[in-house]
Parts: sequence; structure tokens; C-alpha cells
Amino acid sequence: MILNDFSLHGKVAIVTGCNTGLGKSMAVALAQAGCDIVAINRSAPLETAEEVQALGCRFLSLKADLSRQDELSSLLERAVKEMGHVDILVNNAGIIRREDAVNFSEKDWNDVMDVNVKTLFFLSQQVARQFIAQGRGGKIINIASMLSYQGGIRVPSYTASKSAVMGLTRELANEWAKYGINVNALAPGYIATNNTEQLRKDEVRSEEILSRIPAGRWGQPQDLMGPVVFLASPASDYINGYTLAVDGGWLAR
Ligand code: NAP
Repeated sequence: MILNDFSLHGKVAIVTGCNTGLGKSMAVALAQAGCDIVAINRSAPLETAEEVQALGCRFLSLKADLSRQDELSSLLERAVKEMGHVDILVNNAGIIRREDAVNFSEKDWNDVMDVNVKTLFFLSQQVARQFIAQGRGGKIINIASMLSYQGGIRVPSYTASKSAVMGLTRELANEWAKYGINVNALAPGYIATNNTEQLRKDEVRSEEILSRIPAGRWGQPQDLMGPVVFLASPASDYINGYTLAVDGGWLAR
């Protein structure tokens, strides 16, 4: 029956940056579908651990600074050693820096590109090698943005990074589909998290944004729960290299 295809029982998902915001909601959603969770965070994901374990799922917390790539292989080794296998990767951790392009610093460029693109690529590479060794495919879900499609303003490194995420999603899907690995992305619209706190505090920008969203509200982290389970599950086995907007209709305008 079709709803069985959405089940993640017996699966293990790595979710980066899941102590808060979208990552927390997505980790809990995957656990609600039956999945064990490996959390990779720099801040302790205490509430997420509690919610996942209350669902009867295992929760392994690995501490790491994802602006660096030197620990990625040992993180994966620890995940496999502890959980036995890995089936799903959600590349969620991401940062944003806001400044006029004429004043934008090299540090704000590098910091954003390191977390949002470089680590996303090299962690995906580690996980894909594991998927190939396991021989039964896997799912990689990248977190893109409206700025994978649009230019944005005062966020040059973020726009560059999220445009790269959509491109890499297609590129990796092309290379890895033959191994049964699905690489897709979710592009959240304007969601109420730490990432958009500054925007929401700016009354003028906040009103401009809200008035352009056909759904008439900011998104909530819970809005990503169904889409992430779909892309992590066998229900989406023939979807490759696609970026699904979860945006209340923003891109349809
Ligand atoms: P958030 O609340 O700021 O969460 C970002 C997560 O990434 C946090 O867990 C954060 O950890 C983690 N992170 C950042 N840098 C890290 C590093 N160097 N090492 C380890 N973890 C790191 O923002 P969010 O809105 O949930 O964002 C999640 C993803 O969605 C991001 O990729 C973001 O770009 C994307 N997104 C968000 C929106 C939106 O409207 N909110 C829209 C489009 C895309 P700490 O808590 O320790 O900082």
C-alpha cells in the first residue's frame, strides 16, 4: 500500500545543524516516520534528542564545526560504527551574512561558502562512498533557498552558495543515480527561524515579504516535515536532481 512507501523504519539519517530551526523539525519528522538519527552539530541538540528518543528512535549526537572539512570522514566512521549503516543525509546546516555588496568582506564570503557549499559537497561525497559500499542506494537531501532561483539583496555569498547547492544537487544526481542514490533538494521560502530573525525585525522588509507570499503567512519549520519525509522515502525513488520549493507560493508570483 502506498503509505508504506513513506515509512523510514529501520533507516538511519544524518541531519546536520538540527539543534534548532528547520534541522530540528526535519530530524523529528524523520524520526516520526521511524528513522534513527545521527545529529551533527556545534551546539548540543538537547531538545531534538529528547523528542527523537521519545518516539522510540535512536539518537547519536556528534559534535563538529561544519565550517571545516577535516573531520568529515571520522564523523561518518563514527556514525557507521555506532548505528551500523547510513541511508539518508540531510545537508541542512547553513549560515547567512548580510552586507551591501560594495562593502562585503572576504571573510563573510568564505565563511558562508565553507558551510553552505564546501562542507555540503565533501560530506555528500563521504556519505555517497558509504552508500555505494553498502550497495542499496540512499537519499541525499540538500537545503537550498529562494536564492537558488533569485538574486536577493545584501546577501552575495548566500546567493552564490544556494545557487551552487541547486547546481550541485543536479550534478551529483547525474553521477550517483546509477547507484540508486537520489540527490534532491528542498528550497524553503521565508520561514520563521534564527536565519530570518533580522528580516522579520525589519518592519518594512517583513511587510514587503509577507505581502508577496500567496499563502499569506511566513512558513514555520513544521512546513518542511512532510516534504523531507517524502524525499527521504521510497515514495520518491524516481525523483533525481530536483529542487522542490516549500514556499507558500512565493516562486509562483
Ligand atoms: P538556523 O536556525 O540558523 O539553523 C542553522 C543551523 O546550522 C543551526 O543548527 C546551526 O548551528 C548550524 N550551523 C551553522 N554553522 C555551523 C557550523 N559551522 N557547524 C555546525 N553547525 C552549523 O537557520 P534555519 O533557518 O533553520 O536554516 C537551516 C537551513 O535552511 C540553512 O541551510 C538555511 O540556509 C536554509 N534556509 C532557511 C530559510 C529560512 O527562511 N529560515 C530559507 C531558505 C533556506 P548553531 O545553532 O550552533 O548556530
